[in-house]
Amino acid sequence: MNKLDAQRQKEIQQAEELLFAGPQALGFAKGLFQGHFVADWVMPYPRIPEAQEGELVQTLAELRKFLNEELDAAEIDRQADIPRSVIDGLGRTGVLGLTAPKEYGGRGFSQMANCEVLEEIGRRCASTSVFVNAHHSIGIRALLLFGTHEQKQRWLPKLVTGEQLGAFALTEREAGSDAANVQMQARPSEDGSHFILNGEKRYITNAAIAHELTVMARTPVPGSNKTAVTAFLVTPDMPGFEMLEARMPKTGIKGTATGRFALRDVKVPKENILGPIGKGLKVALTVLDFGRTTFGACCTGAAKTCLELAIAHANTRRQFSKTLGEFELVKKKIARIAADAYAMEAMTTVTASFIDRGLEDYMLETAMLKVFTTERLWECINDVFQIYGGSAYFTDLPLERMLRDARINQIGEGANEVLTSFIALVGMRGPGMEFKEIYDMMMKPSRDGMSKAWAAGKNRLNAAIRVPDVPVQSEELAEHARQLGRLIWRFNFAVNRALIMYREPILDMQLVQERIANAAMDLFASTCVLSRIDGDIQLIGRNGDTAPPEHAAADLFLRQSFRRIRGFLAGLTDNDDEAVIAAAKSCLASGSARTAS
Ligand SMILES: Cc1cc2nc3c(=O)[nH]c(=O)nc-3n(C[C@H](O)[C@H](O)[C@H](O)COP(=O)(O)OP(=O)(O)OC[C@H]3O[C@@H](n4cnc5c(N)ncnc54)[C@H](O)[C@@H]3O)c2cc1C
Repeated sequence: MNKLDAQRQKEIQQAEELLFAGPQALGFAKGLFQGHFVADWVMPYPRIPEAQEGELVQTLAELRKFLNEELDAAEIDRQADIPRSVIDGLGRTGVLGLTAPKEYGGRGFSQMANCEVLEEIGRRCASTSVFVNAHHSIGIRALLLFGTHEQKQRWLPKLVTGEQLGAFALTEREAGSDAANVQMQARPSEDGSHFILNGEKRYITNAAIAHELTVMARTPVPGSNKTAVTAFLVTPDMPGFEMLEARMPKTGIKGTATGRFALRDVKVPKENILGPIGKGLKVALTVLDFGRTTFGACCTGAAKTCLELAIAHANTRRQFSKTLGEFELVKKKIARIAADAYAMEAMTTVTASFIDRGLEDYMLETAMLKVFTTERLWECINDVFQIYGGSAYFTDLPLERMLRDARINQIGEGANEVLTSFIALVGMRGPGMEFKEIYDMMMKPSRDGMSKAWAAGKNRLNAAIRVPDVPVQSEELAEHARQLGRLIWRFNFAVNRALIMYREPILDMQLVQERIANAAMDLFASTCVLSRIDGDIQLIGRNGDTAPPEHAAADLFLRQSFRRIRGFLAGLTDNDDEAVIAAAKSCLASGSARTAS
């Protein structure tokens, strides 16, 4: 085995240990890759339980009042700071500890309710929504999910009110997208009472204003010369904590404090370990699932603002004796923003409901939500920017700020390319394992292998001959449901074909992975939209209301999404991949030659 293969085997083993521990119920997205429509997770469309509804409505009303009166997004951007009065107000309205249990001073809200609140903030100010995410979605999440009762009792009461703030510190110079490559070291003290941390972290939101940081560092694995990542709770008053740069100047979300810090022989008591020792990467991935879900909510809020701004301008600005809204190319943009905003909300709600309902594994769905909503929001902002023409370019309107602010979304909490590849590979693992059982059996027959291969073969065959049923309630959606079922069947066929055709090299074929992941994301988005309209129609039927105008946008979304899926699948066999790789290779080689000369 050469060095590269050995490294690949090591990576695969690490990923297997990290991502696929123990038997789990089949989630929705993994089901898609198997050719199944796991209806129970997505239908009927999830709603906030009545018991929580009242408290949510009241919180939203208080929050809106506060934001309308106190939040000035333009000023936050100009001053590159979120005033303490805003942080205090968010604390007062409960936003900074919304999902924390009541016994520790939080509100005990579900993720679905939390997402509604985050959407409201995301509508107005991306700096503020990223700040809240950094504190509540990821900063204190490891403590909420993995902390002991003593740890929670000690730290949470001040964190949930905003008296103290949290941050999540994973990224380092050598551990960006390659998050497993954390270099910060945590050496146990001789008496075992504490760990001594050394290393640097960069690009950490809230680092300079946080009182509690969840820090990832490498600890020795007992009985071996290996190390594994462990999560520590670090406070900036610990001797040896050095803030290298409190506020790194940046393009957008300027109100957030993004910093670099070093830990130099910082003694962290063993009581500050969060979660099992050596399981920090699992902690980090779980924390990021929550961050990616609220990312979806914030992007939904911003997309709704895009829609409002687009409608307002298209109805009032006149050129060629017509309002802009009378031109088809402007109509097209508005329709697309409306369709995407509807889908983003539906996808966020469904994903949040997975967390609330206790699905064990939702990492595929949160990754899909993050990539889908951040990419769509970027398009939405680009479209509304275009509708505003030259005026969008000037700083008296919010659009240039929104454009700058939105750019981080495709990079932070997992760059979209990395997540796209992750979606395809994690999704394809299920059917891939089944093919492996069949292949292994053919190569090396055994009694045990025979029964596994039989089960795998039956499952693959079932998926190949059966178009999954998409059970909608509303008659008018039956055709969309039929089309969706058929596309899932075609998707499964394409996944099987790619696995059989490319086998292990598919692990490196990102152009193939991208099409598969894009198709899967649109299948998930369409499902959420279909479920949402279905739920709405049923509700309207019961209440005798008329259909809201957004149903036209939802219908458009489904049509466009289905068309995109067909395009992604067609691209698997009709593409310019070889030419793309050849052109890139020659550019990269010419760059190396230039650097060398
Ligand atoms: C404003 C801001 C706030 C942040 N806040 C936090 C925080 O609070 N906590 C924290 O821990 N981190 C934070 N980060 C770090 C952020 O998560 C990283 O920037 C991100 O994970 C990408 O890492 P990187 O910047 O090192 O880019 P790199 O890893 O160098 O990647 C650069 C680009 O290369 C491409 N790429 C990389 N790997 C692959 C691959 N496998 N396949 C295909 N393409 C690939 C992608 O296009 C990627 O965008 C923040 C970053 C910013 C800018």
